Amino acid sequence: MYLHHCTWPEIESYLSESSGILIPIGSTEQHGPNGLIGTDAICPETIAKGVGATANALIAPTINVGVAQHHLGFPGTISLRPSTLIAVIKDTIDSLRLHGLNRFYFLNGHGGNIATISAAFSEIYSADSTGSVPGPTIRLRLTNWWQGDEVQTLSRRLYGNAEGSHATPSEVSVTYFAFPDCVKTVPMSPKIAPRGTIRDAADYRRQFPDGRIGSDPSLASVEAGEQLYAASVRDITSDYREFMSHE
Ligand SMILES: [Zn+2]
Repeated sequence: MYLHHCTWPEIESYLSESSGILIPIGSTEQHGPNGLIGTDAICPETIAKGVGATANALIAPTINVGVAQHHLGFPGTISLRPSTLIAVIKDTIDSLRLHGLNRFYFLNGHGGNIATISAAFSEIYSADSTGSVPGPTIRLRLTNWWQGDEVQTLSRRLYGNAEGSHATPSEVSVTYFAFPDCVKTVPMSPKIAPRGTIRDAADYRRQFPDGRIGSDPSLASVEAGEQLYAASVRDITSDYREFMSHE
């Protein structure tokens, strides 16, 4: 069930059955010469909808702008400060918990969000531990869509050392599966992008001028995206079920 497509009576009825919600969270940032700027939001949103259908879970609207300061050297990127994203996460949870939801499963699409989401969780748990927040005890989980066992195995088999760490053929494939009209054919030079570490936006653009790190996303395809999507839905469904079954 996608929250935006439900009525409030439908949500009220869901709450009589479940106290869990999946919240896709991503980023709006450059993804190399052939990757969509929405990649990190599209991937968790698409996979969350698949998990929702399988596990009968409610899916929140995607938090689709994240912490992407180091991509701002490329046009189209939008970034929140960590403090802003923490506030967005906290306000989202504070709204939804009023209605009885108390298990919040964040399905993340962007490595650059991990530290900030973890900090938001600490803020929320800290506020709760003072006893100043009314309502049921809450449970929070952060899972990255690409880190389940099945997806990792499949990515390695499909792309090996061409997977890289940014603008990967796996993530680009999932977006092409979600939006086949957006497939772009762009030659890559060099074929596999260089690897390395980055400091800030200017340093990123200087070191990795086409936006990729360590990857060859020209290998991306709709067919691979469909396989990766299915693998991730299986990984995440079992993790979500485990999360919901815990005390
Ligand atoms: Zn990405």
